[in-house]
Amino acid sequence: MSKDASDRIMRVSQAPGWQAYLLLPILYFVAAKFGGAFTTSPEGMAVIWAPNAIVLGMLLIYQGKGYWRFALLAIAAEAVGDWPYYNWWQGAIFGMVDVAEATIAYLLIRRMQIKLPLVTLNDLSRYILAGPVLATLLGGLMGGAALTLLDLAHEPYQALVRIWWFGDALGMMLVTPLMLLLVMQDEREMLPNVWFSRTPTIMMGLYTCAVLVLLAFAHAGSIYHVSVTPTLLLPPLLYVAVRYRPVFSAIATCFAAIIVAILIAKGHKPFGGLASSEELMLGQEFILMISILTLVFSALMSQIRENAYKLESRVADRTHALNQANDELSRLVKTDALTGLYNRRAFYEIALGECERSGRYPHPMVMLLLDLDHFKSINDLYGHLAGDQVLCHFAQLLNTAARSSDTIARYGGEEFVILAPETTIEEGVILAERIRILLAENPAVVLYRFIPITASIGVAALQPGESLDKLLHRADMAMYQAKSEGRNRVHKASC
Ligand code: GH3
Ligand code: MG
Ligand code: MG
Repeated sequence: MSKDASDRIMRVSQAPGWQAYLLLPILYFVAAKFGGAFTTSPEGMAVIWAPNAIVLGMLLIYQGKGYWRFALLAIAAEAVGDWPYYNWWQGAIFGMVDVAEATIAYLLIRRMQIKLPLVTLNDLSRYILAGPVLATLLGGLMGGAALTLLDLAHEPYQALVRIWWFGDALGMMLVTPLMLLLVMQDEREMLPNVWFSRTPTIMMGLYTCAVLVLLAFAHAGSIYHVSVTPTLLLPPLLYVAVRYRPVFSAIATCFAAIIVAILIAKGHKPFGGLASSEELMLGQEFILMISILTLVFSALMSQIRENAYKLESRVADRTHALNQANDELSRLVKTDALTGLYNRRAFYEIALGECERSGRYPHPMVMLLLDLDHFKSINDLYGHLAGDQVLCHFAQLLNTAARSSDTIARYGGEEFVILAPETTIEEGVILAERIRILLAENPAVVLYRFIPITASIGVAALQPGESLDKLLHRADMAMYQAKSEGRNRVHKASC
């Protein structure tokens, strides 16, 4: 999860601050006023009733912290917001019903261990059951009873329950998920939008504008006998749900729901010339349908995106591991396992390149062939393992003596080779003598015993036009000459 996202969640899981206590009644009041302004039933029941969804959002965001303050503020905001439709104590009773409904939804969501924000199909479907289906049904039963008992009802109880239920369910379908997505972004939300191309987005935007204009001018669901209904808003909603993060889909759906509620409230009769109560019902069903569709689609798409993202990052991880293994493998292929120096094969490759370069731009270069003297007797005397340690010790001394531009390799059993570019034969002999003296001054120490070692070194300088094999052969000959002259010495190859 990105740092920003974890910061947000950290921040909101703290106790609510004064801003939250200020925001709740403001949002509640605005939502109540909005609901009140766009009501169609004689009881003042709204197409969309969002205040309790706002209370639920606050309870979920702050994990139930500040519950009593939120509840009292909500009841007070309802009493004020319901004015002048109801008097203050009637408003307070409706506020209590709304708070009770939000509380039931909150407790059910906690009990069902639904993860927030609602970005997986599993969490979303259980949320719909807990909030918009069950809690709001109970709220509808209580609200219908309150309206009937207060003698404010103009419709039968079951009709009141149904309208209350649907209005509140729409609030919980539209507003609570949006609040959660805005505040509690999770890592899936951090995934990039799927911008396939800008052209279809622009086309969809133009289409939406055209539909909005048509809907504004349509009456009773048609213009010049051509049917124009809010169903035309479905393509852009699904487009946003499929291509953008869930939060954008939630915003687009709220926008569409508000448009439909306004069309109904302004008497446009967007679904055809229906009676008010039928139109209210159809409008609510339409909004419910688009909200379920878009929420489900965007959850599905965010899950698909998450899986694709996980798969991609797993492939990237594997590729990285494979590259590392390849690098390690090619290092091993070039390296002598005992001493860590280059092996014969790698040396040959490097030396070929160096010879070619020296041949092209005449630069001096020398080859040193070093063979440990009487090494077999070290093995015989101290054992093979001690012999190995002596070889490692010798390799370390070579590393100390040579320059970084020199190439050192183990050429065979106890034979080593150094290729020194930009070095004359005289400098090569000096290097060989330095190694010989270093070896004399630093005997190998194996199991607290000093093992004196000496080496015979052949030095040969690259001649113009000479091949690598020829150079190696001359260095080898010089080394054998050093052996035959009594060992522990340097011999310069003849041209
Ligand atoms: P010379 O002075 O003539 O070079 O005598 P030498 O004993 O060094 O030469 P010879 O070729 O007779 O013996 C080389 C020995 O090096 C024989 C072999 O057992 C030993 N040897 C080769 N590779 C390894 C190795 O990896 N580890 C050990 N411990 N010994 C090795
Ligand atoms: Mg040898
Ligand atoms: Mg030897």
